[in-house]
Amino acid sequence: MEFPTTRLRRLRNSAGMRNMVRETILTVHDLIMPIFVTAGTDMKEEIASMPGVYHFSLDRLDAEVDEIVALGIPAVVLFGVPATKDAVGSSAFDENGIVQQATRQIKAKYPDLLVIADTCLCQYTDHGHCGMVHVREANGQQAGVVDNDESLQYLVQTAVSQAKAGADIIAPSNMMDGFVQAIRAGLDEAGFTDIPIMSYSVKYASAFYGPFRDAANSTPQFGDRKTYQMDPANAREALREAEADVIEGADMLMVKPAMAYMDVIRVLKDQFDLPVVAYNVSGEYSMIKAASKLGWIDEKAVTMELLVGLKRAGADILITYFAKDAARWLSDNH
Ligand SMILES: [Zn+2]
Repeated sequence: MEFPTTRLRRLRNSAGMRNMVRETILTVHDLIMPIFVTAGTDMKEEIASMPGVYHFSLDRLDAEVDEIVALGIPAVVLFGVPATKDAVGSSAFDENGIVQQATRQIKAKYPDLLVIADTCLCQYTDHGHCGMVHVREANGQQAGVVDNDESLQYLVQTAVSQAKAGADIIAPSNMMDGFVQAIRAGLDEAGFTDIPIMSYSVKYASAFYGPFRDAANSTPQFGDRKTYQMDPANAREALREAEADVIEGADMLMVKPAMAYMDVIRVLKDQFDLPVVAYNVSGEYSMIKAASKLGWIDEKAVTMELLVGLKRAGADILITYFAKDAARWLSDNH
């Protein structure tokens, strides 16, 4: 490449030229919109730290889904805020649980909209952990330990009940070892051999989840999630997590959060042939919303740059609270 023969600016000369040589295209088909469904009636409550994102009771849910479908967004991921919580999170696998009811309601009206069920227990347990907790004495102090293998059976029950309700994709997120294998076996045994698993393969113990925990009311009552979610400092370990999920039968691999982990997204894309999902989490959303509210950044430009950046990093699919905004902005450009 020698100047003046090579002039890279030639291919940036006009919008038409830039459009022609663009390497990464973001489309509405890439987007998944998260929805929080809550017990109760006549509720559409904005989450204070996530402007534009709401809790919906079932009777107020249709208007939101209508809007998502009208924008051409192909999928939603459901998070439930149940009426009751207990030690084992039984409202997670109740056939009349909040996510199960919401799934049936959405699929009845929009059979073609993909419903992804987040499969975890933390929103449903009274202690707020993602699995079964045993309290143990250590050095005279009581400490809660999340039991991996015991947690799997409840996760499987939850996944099967979600599939029975009509979920198109099961997305287990509790980071227990062996969770994909257990859920695959459970789904198959229940006759759901064609329901794919979108595994939260590489989920970090991240401070970027802060606003979500307010939203889902799922902050652990004691301790933290560092014994099951990954250390933000580790990338090679992410390969081991992902490889285990591939071997166990995952159909898609997720990296969560997204912005601070673009290298991990790239490495999964290069190492595995499965679709890679990036979860652009609540804290990432809230930062952009807050800064744009203050007039410090251009919300649309920054958001679209981030989303296309995540695709460029290797994500095939984006779960983002910006899905509706991005769908609107994408259609404005045509
Ligand atoms: Zn959880």
